[in-house]
Amino acid sequence: MRYNLEIGDILINKGDKKSFHINEISGVAFCGKNEGKTLLITAGVHGGEYVGIETCMRLIGELEPGKMYGNVVICPVLNKDGFLHGVKQICTVDGKNLNREFPGDKYGTFTQKIAYDVEKYLYPLADFIVDLHGGDMNEKLIPLIFFPYDAGEKMREYVGDIAGRMNVYFRVGSYADNGLYSYAAKKNIPAMLYERGGHGIWSESDVIAEKEDLYKLMEILGIIREGYDISVNKSQKEIIKAEYVGADSDGFWYPYFTVGDNVKKGELLGIVRSMDGIVVQMVRAKFDAIILYYTLSLGVRKNDILMAYGREI
Ligand SMILES: [Zn+2]
Repeated sequence: MRYNLEIGDILINKGDKKSFHINEISGVAFCGKNEGKTLLITAGVHGGEYVGIETCMRLIGELEPGKMYGNVVICPVLNKDGFLHGVKQICTVDGKNLNREFPGDKYGTFTQKIAYDVEKYLYPLADFIVDLHGGDMNEKLIPLIFFPYDAGEKMREYVGDIAGRMNVYFRVGSYADNGLYSYAAKKNIPAMLYERGGHGIWSESDVIAEKEDLYKLMEILGIIREGYDISVNKSQKEIIKAEYVGADSDGFWYPYFTVGDNVKKGELLGIVRSMDGIVVQMVRAKFDAIILYYTLSLGVRKNDILMAYGREI
């Protein structure tokens, strides 16, 4: 008998599917009946970003390996601790943000070990990685994709082209290198981070839209051949420069704009007041831009991201 997908010590027959567990990581692998590329879909790096997590669950129920050319490996909740505790961004065990811990550490903390296992066991499988995020419990965002801007010209063009076929408003060039997808890109594995939904809600319409994009991605990679429309999304815009504004101190946050708003250089985007009501931070746009996401929380801690905005190409 011949196998063509192996995860850790789990071998999966062609045309079959199997759940797998590697330390803290759980997932389901679909091994196509026919040869082809392998797509790794991860979600729940941030446990409160539900649209991606639920989209994975739907795909797990729907994919048919007997019809596939290649493999799809799905990990719906990489940070199970954060998901089950309903906390934003972090694992409660060590207080770390998994998307800032790459490369991982085999002998490190709880979160660093998860990052290590992703690198050791999942990265090597993948011809392409999509990591699903969204606005967190306290964030409102417009659907967008982050793609690697700093991992070589070929990577930028290849992933940028694929991102450009998805049904999101923006693709944002990113210079990050310590997250699941961004570190993968540094390791020469094509990868992108997909964002949809927010503030602790998963709507049916968002899940359906995200699922449609993932089927398109499989079609682009040749894993399914169902005739999905994979033409370029002409209304999508590329963001070449983004600014992520953090809080200078703990306090009250009052944003003056919402996602999708256009703002002018110098315009006041929001203020932070201290506990005694004094304005301690005035956030002004550094350039003409569009608001990509912002935090809805009235209370913010020092260094929390207040708002992100970017400039179109
Ligand atoms: Zn996230």
